[in-house]
Amino acid sequence: MVTNVIPLGTASALPTEDRHLSSVAIERKGRVLLFDCGEGTQYRLLHADLSRVRVDAIFITHLHGDHCYGLPGLLSTLGLQQRRAPVTLVLPPGGRAMLTATPGADPEGFPFPLRVREVGVDLSHTVVYETEEAVVTARPLAHRGFAMGFRFEEHERPGRFDPERARALGVPEGPAFGRLQEGTPVATPDGTTVEPAQVLGPPRPGTAVAYVTDTRPCDGGRALAADADLLYHDATFADDHQERARKTGHSTARQAATVAHDAGAAGLLLGHLSARYSDPAPLVREAREVFPGAEVAKELHRYKLDPRDKEPESSAG
Ligand SMILES: [Zn+2]
Ligand SMILES: [Zn+2]
Repeated sequence: MVTNVIPLGTASALPTEDRHLSSVAIERKGRVLLFDCGEGTQYRLLHADLSRVRVDAIFITHLHGDHCYGLPGLLSTLGLQQRRAPVTLVLPPGGRAMLTATPGADPEGFPFPLRVREVGVDLSHTVVYETEEAVVTARPLAHRGFAMGFRFEEHERPGRFDPERARALGVPEGPAFGRLQEGTPVATPDGTTVEPAQVLGPPRPGTAVAYVTDTRPCDGGRALAADADLLYHDATFADDHQERARKTGHSTARQAATVAHDAGAAGLLLGHLSARYSDPAPLVREAREVFPGAEVAKELHRYKLDPRDKEPESSAG
């Protein structure tokens, strides 16, 4: 199943003509999960041709305005559209109070169920959202005050079925093949039992995407990015502003690349870029010295991730 990652806003606190405030959408089977909701995010959904009514859940990393000021506007638009389907809203500590204090944005006051999940300041590693097909987990980051990062991950799929091996074990072709693929043991005509593990390859991992901003390089970010297909990481500054990055709780592009490298991520998008880099070439150059596949996150581009791309050619036995 293809998962699209669509950066909607890749600026840090100061938006520019080309870069908008923080938000990244993950689109899968036409449904949308939104990570951060900076001011203007509802327009960026339109520009990305993503339907607002398909937003199932919104995850906010922290309460700095560049990550959450778009939330009341988006929610009230969903209300005006007579939405009835629930929306899950994952918030940092204080998030509910912020909404309650905003006129018209009380979580209880929308015409659709708003399922608010506010994490505690003692957050360690928690599942914050789960469907039959995927899970989102959160971990704390190292910013100024509380911030958390997220990891979206499809559930593992059963291993690949090996029909030749099944035949060799005496399983008759037909419904018995299907039962084995679903994970049910099957009895052969001669009375032996064939277990699914005998005819299925190793479980196949689903797509994993990590959203890690705003933060210094940290253990939480590395854990979220472990073996991810794609990491979106804070790369606010270039090397020349390393000290400023440390002081403000951000990362340099090189540090983002080091996190991606250490975590074994397959791809890296540099995000949350300072407005001073109208030309992001130095960020890319520095990041690629550590992680050759690094690129600047391109707003509205659909980064397609397909778990089939990472499967070995030969079917397992
Ligand atoms: Zn920020
Ligand atoms: Zn921040």
